[in-house]
Amino acid sequence: MPKILVKKPIVDINGDEMARVIWAKIKKELILPFLDISLLDFDLKITNRDITNDDVTIQAANAIKKNNIGVKCATITPDDNRVNEYNLKKKYPSPNGTIRKILNGTIFREPIIVNRIPRIVDHWNKSVVIARHAFGDIYQAKEIDVKKKGKLTLNYENAKETVSEVIHEFDSPGVGLAYFNLDNSIKDFANACFNFAINKKIPVYLSTKNTILQKYDERFKEIFEEIYNKKFKKEFQKNNIEYQHRLIDDMVACFMKWSGGFLWACKNYDGDVMSDLVAQGYGSLGLMTSILQTPDGMTVETEAAHGTVTSHFRQHENGKETSTNPIASIFAWTRALWYRSNLDKNYRLKQFSENLEKICIETLESGFMTKDLALMVGPKQKWVTTDQLLKILQSKILKLNL
Ligand code: NAP
Ligand code: MG
Repeated sequence: MPKILVKKPIVDINGDEMARVIWAKIKKELILPFLDISLLDFDLKITNRDITNDDVTIQAANAIKKNNIGVKCATITPDDNRVNEYNLKKKYPSPNGTIRKILNGTIFREPIIVNRIPRIVDHWNKSVVIARHAFGDIYQAKEIDVKKKGKLTLNYENAKETVSEVIHEFDSPGVGLAYFNLDNSIKDFANACFNFAINKKIPVYLSTKNTILQKYDERFKEIFEEIYNKKFKKEFQKNNIEYQHRLIDDMVACFMKWSGGFLWACKNYDGDVMSDLVAQGYGSLGLMTSILQTPDGMTVETEAAHGTVTSHFRQHENGKETSTNPIASIFAWTRALWYRSNLDKNYRLKQFSENLEKICIETLESGFMTKDLALMVGPKQKWVTTDQLLKILQSKILKLNL
């Protein structure tokens, strides 16, 4: 079978532990036999980040910026234990954080829906994409511990003026907090959300509490509305999709009632909480994808939302075969290939990526799955190892007339 030619490269970011083991197998079994593609490799395994003083992470992010498409394996974010385990020079920051800052991207998390795998909420049969505005708010807040009676104020000053608000006159001990956001960051977030939704042809809902925060949250609402009306309304109407602002409490209720199929633009804290809720609600970390996208929608980095699956790696190190779920990592590849095909107008590549996703879902539906999913289906459900599952998937691709 002749390979499909992919003219432009994809940045391939390697990672750690079990995720790394699976990464190599996916490329060997499902990608390289079928595509004539140039992969620009960056090895972000923790020891290589240490050798390069984390420069390799910055290089990888810049390569994505230049080539538009990257696909990333899960990596260790070192804590004190990892610093000891690998004898690291320092506690390096999360590679995802570094890459996100360099690309100025928004993270979109989306579950893969498989009917056979039960969900906590039965009628969630379409996926909900959670977009998190990962800037400012409580994550860059300053806090004060109030010990005694006194006045807490919020001050803004420049060369010409001072604006001051009394927050509270304390009679007894308590706590205080101040935080901020930036118009430009909210604009980038809005653009990223609308661009992502247009690609997927799904509606967008922004949630805030603007009835209470009539300046702060109202600014989010105003900026989204302005950008929508100026740049996206026509395109949305053409595709029969809508944009609405909703109060966060109303949105949470709708989320439970509705069956999915929309993008939820969340403020920073809401997005933090909701992405974990969605991951659990839809069933499994092994079925959750994550895409980092720039505001203009032209550059993406795709990955599985789960980590390096250390517990399975320990078994692997002891020579045991594992049943680690490769589906989210495979979808990181298919989504990266899809965006590559979309930018390059490569129809055959688009078909390949869509077919591989279909094959994954059909295979799970037909009862071949890894242990994590089998446990959710029930005690009678049989499971296969990662290697067995990848072989089944490969044999199905071979049967396609590419
Ligand atoms: P994790 O790797 O996601 O694993 C947590 C548990 O979830 C596993 O022990 C396993 O449960 C289950 N699981 C996750 N993915 C699975 C899969 N594909 N197939 C089957 N089971 C799966 O999270 P963690 O243990 O908290 O973190 C491990 C390392 O990953 C840490 O060093 C962390 O820094 C890193 N991490 C990286 C990223 C990233 O690069 N994006 C994200 C999160 C965490 P059982 O043990 O019960 O089988
Ligand atoms: Mg969280």
